[in-house]
Amino acid sequence: MSEERSLNFLEEIVEEDIASGKHGGRVLTRFPPEPNGYLHIGHAKSICLNFGLAQKYNGKTNLRFDDTNPVKEDVEYVDSIKEDVKWLGFEWAEELYASDYFDKLYELAVTLIKAGLAYVDDSTAEEIAAQKGTPTEPGTPNQYRSRTVEENLQLFADMKAGKYPDGAKVLRAKVDLAAPNMHLRDPLMYRIKHAHHHRTGDAWCIYPMYDFAHGQSDAIEQITHSICTLEFIPHRDLYNWFIEKLNLFDSHQYEFARLNMTYTVMSKRKLLQLVDDNHVEDWDDPRMPTISGMRRRGYPAAAIREFCERIGVAKRENMIDLSLLEFCVRENLNKSTWRRMAVLDPIKLVITNYPEGQTEMFSGENNPEVEGGDGSREFPFSKEIWIEREDFMEEPPKKFFRLGVGLMVRLKNAYIVKCDSFVKDAEGNVTEVHCSYIPESKSGNDTSGLSPKGTIHWVSAAHAKTAEVRLYDRLFRVEDPSNEEGDFKEYLNPDSLQIINAYVEPALADAQMGTAVQFMRKGYFTLDKHSTANKLVFNRTVTLKDGWKVK
Ligand code: ATP
Ligand code: MG
Repeated sequence: MSEERSLNFLEEIVEEDIASGKHGGRVLTRFPPEPNGYLHIGHAKSICLNFGLAQKYNGKTNLRFDDTNPVKEDVEYVDSIKEDVKWLGFEWAEELYASDYFDKLYELAVTLIKAGLAYVDDSTAEEIAAQKGTPTEPGTPNQYRSRTVEENLQLFADMKAGKYPDGAKVLRAKVDLAAPNMHLRDPLMYRIKHAHHHRTGDAWCIYPMYDFAHGQSDAIEQITHSICTLEFIPHRDLYNWFIEKLNLFDSHQYEFARLNMTYTVMSKRKLLQLVDDNHVEDWDDPRMPTISGMRRRGYPAAAIREFCERIGVAKRENMIDLSLLEFCVRENLNKSTWRRMAVLDPIKLVITNYPEGQTEMFSGENNPEVEGGDGSREFPFSKEIWIEREDFMEEPPKKFFRLGVGLMVRLKNAYIVKCDSFVKDAEGNVTEVHCSYIPESKSGNDTSGLSPKGTIHWVSAAHAKTAEVRLYDRLFRVEDPSNEEGDFKEYLNPDSLQIINAYVEPALADAQMGTAVQFMRKGYFTLDKHSTANKLVFNRTVTLKDGWKVK
């Protein structure tokens, strides 16, 4: 579909720049995560956009870690981010770190001080806020604003040397205390933070603020199109001011609407709370909107890319329905997955006229969606089999095309059976369904002349493997938990995980992690990382149909 759609506004900008010869027609984008959490589907949108633009226009994309905040960052996050970007199918030109530019950024700050465009301020955060004025009233300069260049150079060097405690001083850009854009009212460039950094260790006790790190990193790398989300629009003037005053490479910032999705939260701060408070197993819990969670759940990378393509690039905030992502996953898996039989809520079916101890092998195509079936596999049939509890009814209504006394169905790839009776326990629960089979109705060689409307899946009881199956539902029970009253965690869906034991056909013992299968009539499933040779564990990736629309 990428060929058919019209250009999005970013592609238009890039094409104009190429046409006008700006940067010699070169395109270099970057994906700039802060390594303070795992990537989520919103980041996937940004990744597809940045890497996709570069691919389309023969450009490149850097992976730059925006690691200027030592307290919340960690190598665990760096590693997971790299793994996720690769898994999504993208290759970065260079792996870079804003922290690699700390020396360079320091030099640039000194350049601004020398030009009389930055000063050291001893005020507290509260004082600075109060002196900034309001959108309708200009700010008021304090006594530090008129410090001499020499004094500022000395104080800034002392800040770097560790002479002052956290918060004692900051370096500010001297822009305009009356600017209508509050971000230009002498923004902070550096703060003192005596903290260990995951890459630079204890070398620094002053760290640059986002606004002084991001644009300068873009310029150092000669990024041509720096794409970020709408909330950075008010930062753009400052981005340009630094580049202009420092006479750096002419990088430009462009903004698009972040991806918001229903029934989940997407801020790393909130996702971290879910992990820390054990509402989920970890960052890669299959219910999480993280890329690692989706991978573990069985979402193919191509389906996530397709989703990002379909939602497009907007300039206005909107909310995307989670079911669109599930639709993309289903579409992808329907084409590729092998079909297998698994009984999730078992009840025993006894074939009274089938010889005790006899086993027959049947076979079925791996994937009827593919010409030739993509090969086939064999599975055993015997006197006692498991079927789905919902495929039998004690008092079936009209048009129930499954089992009930007197009704017939085809057992997939095997025989037609007719239900004769059933057995109940003391509590009145049906424990066994008794049927007789029609020997001449064998699949592929059916001479019975019967054609029951229903076909059900089944597994031979003597040969079945047991498996733990994890059924997932939406993580939250409201569309936009961040927008509800009170704490977002109050809106978690208490039934988002259901663990059951299932019987599965023997071929599923060979299931591979990362390769989804379709459990016939039940949905798409994938082996979980907790699966072992002795204990199969499957995640339900997605149901066969959108069960929510019906409700
Ligand atoms: P969060 O709010 O989830 O913590 P963030 O913006 O702080 O996200 P970063 O690591 O700074 O996370 O993000 C890296 C890049 O991904 C940025 O360019 C950011 O704009 C982009 N990004 C983050 N969230 C989304 C989203 N929901 N939709 C689109 N892009 C996003
Ligand atoms: Mg951020």
